[in-house]
Amino acid sequence: MFSRLARPAASGLLRGFSTSAQKNANVAVLGAAGGIGQPLSLLLKNSPLISNLSLYDIAHTPGVAADLSHIETRAKVTGWIGPEQLPEALRGAQVVVIPAGVPRKPGMTRDDLFNTNASIVATLTEACAKHCPEAMICIIANPVNSTIPITSEIFKKHGVYNPNRIFGVTTLDIVRANTFVAELKALDPARVNIPVVGGHAGKTIIPLISQSTPKVEFPQDHLEALTVRIQDAGTEVVKAKAGAGSATLSMAYAGARFVFSLLDAMNGKEGVIECSFVRSEETDCTYFSTPLLLGKNGIEKNLGLGKLSPFEEKLVAEAMNELKGSIKKGEEFAKNFK
Ligand code: NAD
Repeated sequence: MFSRLARPAASGLLRGFSTSAQKNANVAVLGAAGGIGQPLSLLLKNSPLISNLSLYDIAHTPGVAADLSHIETRAKVTGWIGPEQLPEALRGAQVVVIPAGVPRKPGMTRDDLFNTNASIVATLTEACAKHCPEAMICIIANPVNSTIPITSEIFKKHGVYNPNRIFGVTTLDIVRANTFVAELKALDPARVNIPVVGGHAGKTIIPLISQSTPKVEFPQDHLEALTVRIQDAGTEVVKAKAGAGSATLSMAYAGARFVFSLLDAMNGKEGVIECSFVRSEETDCTYFSTPLLLGKNGIEKNLGLGKLSPFEEKLVAEAMNELKGSIKKGEEFAKNFK
């Protein structure tokens, strides 16, 4: 049996430096020259799990690729720019990570990004459906609660939909929950694991602190404040950056952690668990994030919500309407996308 509460396999990026697991994955990053794309590509370039790293953007990729290509690790870096080079950028990709899109400015919600990012994600995932339909697709672009339904609908349109291979990257919520709980309890953050379920926006972000490893307890008022801090942590960064964007470095870390977990599982490692926003039958919402057992073909088993405290049950119930609305908005956009 695997424990739902075990720290996910990719506990920290040091694992990326292990030499015992030399594998040859082809990974593509779309939006590779951006605030997230550049540090994410750097972390991926550092991993012996990757042999080809394909970097695509509508601007600046030749420079980013030339720069990263001088690093003394084995991944071969290629840079691609503009839509006419996108098919070549995706050729042979086994994992595609998509941080392309505009980030939030102070006062914006993730949903305010919908109009711009929905088209970017639909265009890029349409190219994935055509040129690497078997790849694992990891969407970072917000609003994730809508961009995953968009991706699924685009793959369905092209007749290549496999719900086990399409992931909304919510890992930053887990990373933040682990860090904040470790700070409050004077623990080593690398040894804390808090599942975060639901979606990836405001109150749809639901940390399951009752399922923390190690077990931690807080008075109810502290628990509520901690939950709100985790839900608003992205806004904390948006405000601190004062107009210069949203989380990039911590997101790059979280994105790399997710990709390394996926690659480990694809390479046959057992017991790899990550939370992600995916097609789901665990609640009456058609997409939902829960801990997932990953395997060679993506999601091997959805581990579900587990036992919730009454407070967490209330949070899940309160998130449903917003989540369903964001999912419907994404699905309708994809239906009309040409
Ligand atoms: P950024 O503006 O710094 O970078 C975005 C990059 O995307 C740019 O290089 C831009 O040229 C590129 N791009 C735009 N349109 C493109 C297209 N059609 N094809 C390819 N590339 C294209 O933004 P960022 O800070 O890197 O954020 C990127 C996205 O990630 C935003 O949507 C942001 O909201 C989201 N985000 C998600 C999380 C999460 O937890 N999932 C966390 C932080 C940010």
